[in-house]
Amino acid sequence: MSFLKIRLSKSCVGEREKEALAQVVEEGYLGMGRVVGEFEAKLKEYLPAEHVVCVSSGTAALHLALLAVGCGRGDEVLVPSMTYVASFQAIAATGARPVPCEVRADDGTLDLDDVKRKLTPKAKAVMPVHYAGQPCDLEGLYALARKHHLRVVEDAAHAFGSFYKGEKIGSFGDVVCFSFDGIKNITSGEGGTIVTGDERVASFAKDARLLGVRKDTKKRLLGKRSWEFEVEHIGFRYHMSNLFGAIGLVQLQRFEKEFKPKRQELARKYFLELSKVEGLALFQKLAESSVVPHIFPLRVLHERRDELRSFLQSRGIECGIHYYPNHLHKFFGGGKERLPVTEKLWKELLTLPLHPELRGEEQDFVIASVKEFLQ
Ligand SMILES: *Cc1c(COP(=O)(O)O)cnc(C)c1O
Repeated sequence: MSFLKIRLSKSCVGEREKEALAQVVEEGYLGMGRVVGEFEAKLKEYLPAEHVVCVSSGTAALHLALLAVGCGRGDEVLVPSMTYVASFQAIAATGARPVPCEVRADDGTLDLDDVKRKLTPKAKAVMPVHYAGQPCDLEGLYALARKHHLRVVEDAAHAFGSFYKGEKIGSFGDVVCFSFDGIKNITSGEGGTIVTGDERVASFAKDARLLGVRKDTKKRLLGKRSWEFEVEHIGFRYHMSNLFGAIGLVQLQRFEKEFKPKRQELARKYFLELSKVEGLALFQKLAESSVVPHIFPLRVLHERRDELRSFLQSRGIECGIHYYPNHLHKFFGGGKERLPVTEKLWKELLTLPLHPELRGEEQDFVIASVKEFLQ
């Protein structure tokens, strides 16, 4: 059996999103207004959370969250090196220095022992990444943060819908950021959100997403604008548009019944079929019911990753590598610091296709191809 191309990930949008978009176009108010307010209210209810501030991307969410907790020049933010470059750039954008930390080989999340080793008096915040949808050791992390007076900005871009010890990511914690870019667990086209129980963080972010104009958010959600206004701190054009909000609202409605079970079902099937295959090591938590897998990375042992990747590609199966360690980028030190666990893991990592529109026979073909290569 052969397929044209099996995609690694994909935006899963359809008729309902089209209708919602058409309605916004019909109404003729594309900027940030009522629809964004509605999306925020629904997110608040879903998580649940006290404050939800929607912005133009996950990266913008991280940037504003860090600024809101006071990160700036001279500060350090501890972050796993193995993450999307967005986490690092968001830190760099505040003027703070990202301090690359190791991840645990068993699940790819932040290694708290390494965080402890790398703590200096300059440390202001920690940014854990819930890799592939698996929450990191949050209990340990928050205990460490309390002890050292650190703020926590969770990069939960992969973890929309996941639970940690019975509580949904975003429903607790200091500041939690989600991404709604095209391929995330839910999308709003592009977009992201800051979730927090901290009133001051929320209020800073609400103004900062609209050029720092004080209390502009309130007016815009009512379809009004400010003509005479005050500006008290830095601001950006980071707000979410009604077009994005309309897509996000529909996606949120589809998440529990459609996207979440489908992602979990695909991950479980991979796990069932591949966990005993010699030459592979899987991330066990990706098969747990508390996790909504955003991607399906695994480890290919015995230095055969690149070979397997080429083999799969030759069959039209698109694969990924999540992620190129950021400490190796010239801009972030060019490998001056060594992170042996991360560097070894990176050479083994391969991400298999996973998205809600992946068909059963496509996944079977991926599984059969992996097995064929390794046997
Ligand atoms: C997607 C992603 C981001 C950034 O989100 P955008 O919406 O693409 O800006 C940040 N961190 C991680 C780990 C991501 O996967």
